[in-house]
Amino acid sequence: MSLRCLWCSTPESQHREFELGFRSGQCAGCGRCAAACPGGAIRMEQGRPVREQSRCCLCLSCVRTCPNGAWVSYGMDMTAGELVREIAKDEIFYFHSGGGVTFSGGEPLAQADFVARVMEECHVHGIHTAMETSLYAPWEQAEKVLKYLDFLFADIKLMDARRHREAAGVDNGLILENLRRIDESGWPGPVHIRIPVIPGVNDDQENLTETVKFCDTLKKVEKIELLPYHRLGMETYRNLNLAYPLAEVESPSPERMHRLAEDMNRAARRVAVLVGG
Ligand code: SF4
Ligand code: SF4
Repeated sequence: MSLRCLWCSTPESQHREFELGFRSGQCAGCGRCAAACPGGAIRMEQGRPVREQSRCCLCLSCVRTCPNGAWVSYGMDMTAGELVREIAKDEIFYFHSGGGVTFSGGEPLAQADFVARVMEECHVHGIHTAMETSLYAPWEQAEKVLKYLDFLFADIKLMDARRHREAAGVDNGLILENLRRIDESGWPGPVHIRIPVIPGVNDDQENLTETVKFCDTLKKVEKIELLPYHRLGMETYRNLNLAYPLAEVESPSPERMHRLAEDMNRAARRVAVLVGG
C-alpha cells in the first residue's frame, strides 16, 4: 500500500521491485550495454540504446557494464542483517552525536516486518530510531514498528477526504485513524507532523486551519513542520521515462511559507507550527 501523490519526489519508490533508469546525458553510444544484455532487451538505434522493458529481467548487466554510469538501478535487495551491519559501521558517530537512523522512503510501513527487525537491532546497538511515514498502512503494520520506534514524523497532506483522494490517489481516513490510535496507544511519542505545501493543492487557509485543529486534539503531536514544494525529483522522472505531473507548479517563496506558518500559529491552541527545510 502506498500513496500516489502528484508531487511525489521519489517515484522510484512507488513499486516494490527495484527499477532501471537511464541518464541519457551520460551515454556515449558505445553499445557495450546492448552487447552485455543477456535477453536482447537493449538494441542500438541511431547510436542510442533502447530498452524493451518486456524482455528485461533486471539482471543489471547493463548497469555493471556501462563505463559512464548511464544505466542506474533504483533500489536493491538487502537482508535485515546486511542493513544493520551497514548502519552499525557508524555506531561511534551515533554514540557521540546522539543521532540515529531515520527510516524513510517511499513508505517504510510497506515493509513493516523488515523495518521492525532493523529497528530492533538498532536498539541493541544503542542507536536511536525515527520514521517518516504517510501512515497509510493497516494498524497491525504500524504497531509492529512502534515497538522499536523513538520518534515519528507523519505526513498530513489534506484533511478533506475527497481532495486527498484527488491529490494522493487514496482516502485519508486510514491515515487520520492511525494518528488517533497512535495518540491513544501506549507508545510514548513524540510525533512531528509534516505538511508538504503544494501551491494550489493544499495551501489554502481552510485546509491548513483544519489540520492545526486536528493536530491540537492529539497530545503526542509537538510540532507541525511546513515543507515547501520542490521539484528535486524531476530528474528521476526523466530517468524513468515518466511524465512529471506538476511541472508547471513553482515552489512557494520563503515569505509565503512564513505567512502560512504565522496564520496557522494564530489558529493553534497548543501545537507549534514552523517552516522546515
Ligand atoms: S537489466 Fe539486464 S536484461 Fe535488463 S536491460 Fe539491463 S542487461 Fe538487459
Ligand atoms: S554502455 Fe553506457 S555509454 Fe555505452 S551505449 Fe550503453 S549506456 Fe551508452
